[in-house]
Amino acid sequence: MGEIKDICEYTLPELTDELLSIGEKKFRAKQIYEWIHKKKAVSFDEMTNLSKDLREKLSASYRVTVMNPEKVLISKLDGTRKYIFSLYDDNVIESVFMRYKHGNSVCISSQVGCRMGCTFCASTIDGCVRNLSAAEMLAQIYRIEKDTGERVSNVVIMGSGEPLDNYDEAVRFIRLVSDSDGNDMSARNITLSTCGLVPEILRLADEGLPVTLALSLHAPSQELRENIMPIARAYKLEDVLSACRTYFEKTGRRLSFEYSVVKGVNDSREHAQKLANLIRGMHGHVNLIPVNPVEETGYESPDRESVEEFRKILEEQKINATIRREMGRDINSACGQLRRRHLNDKGLRAD
Ligand code: SAH
Repeated sequence: MGEIKDICEYTLPELTDELLSIGEKKFRAKQIYEWIHKKKAVSFDEMTNLSKDLREKLSASYRVTVMNPEKVLISKLDGTRKYIFSLYDDNVIESVFMRYKHGNSVCISSQVGCRMGCTFCASTIDGCVRNLSAAEMLAQIYRIEKDTGERVSNVVIMGSGEPLDNYDEAVRFIRLVSDSDGNDMSARNITLSTCGLVPEILRLADEGLPVTLALSLHAPSQELRENIMPIARAYKLEDVLSACRTYFEKTGRRLSFEYSVVKGVNDSREHAQKLANLIRGMHGHVNLIPVNPVEETGYESPDRESVEEFRKILEEQKINATIRREMGRDINSACGQLRRRHLNDKGLRAD
């Protein structure tokens, strides 16, 4: 018998072809697709409008990818939930559920670990273990919907991993999650965050997907960016910004610039001024994120006033900027640190 295939990976046309190829009728594809993407079924047994024979036949050749929560932390302050999910191969990833006025948002991981090497980030310390499949990205959301009993209307691909380093699966995920025959999330409610892989930004601009692009900028000059983000050596700042401009022109989507503020590194008035000059006229919004200190990095978070001062300078220069509200302060383990702590507790870290 062949390899077990993942039924959640298929688009509806692909699933239709697949079912025809195993001698089933076309309408079965639609039924199964709705079970997975509308009713969020986690097994073929639940698909009660399929005959028992068909359910058994499907179970023998296909699997339904699900997430198993190993740990869930729930904030008493704002209802934020942080999940550690274990995968079929015992790797673990983290996802975060946040309630906002405009709806519920989930921050998903796109890889187990990351290989981009940003110096302030916990996800990258042990490198990238593997890519997540589109089905594994979807399952983070579907599992959280089941757990909370609430609909998730927004997704940010800002958890562990570099989504554009896992391009095909990230784009497949976006198409599946936003498919009107399935989960039907507005693609406008999806934000993809990247450290700035130029060829993939340009490729994404041509996919015809109205997702918001967030660029992890973190520094207003090539030199400083190289110091804190190794990927900056491969792609020059001016080329990254030019790719972002193209993205805006082709999609009409306003850009978002992430700027993790690190005390004594990129937080001065001069940095703010330089940043304003750099992105002026780019239709962008700056998201200031006071850095979450990671034990291994030695970076410190600036005090609230200096971040506020930084924001003011940008505003004076007519650059839209907000300071990222910290969610789930009482269950604080942001940006890949929950997974890392979890592995440490289990004595699973390689080093
Ligand atoms: N690889 C993608 C997406 C994942 S990181 C990217 O680089 O954009 C999501 C965001 O969190 C990025 O802006 C990243 O730079 C930021 N980030 C990572 N670790 C952080 C930390 N310790 N404190 C603050 N922001 C952090």
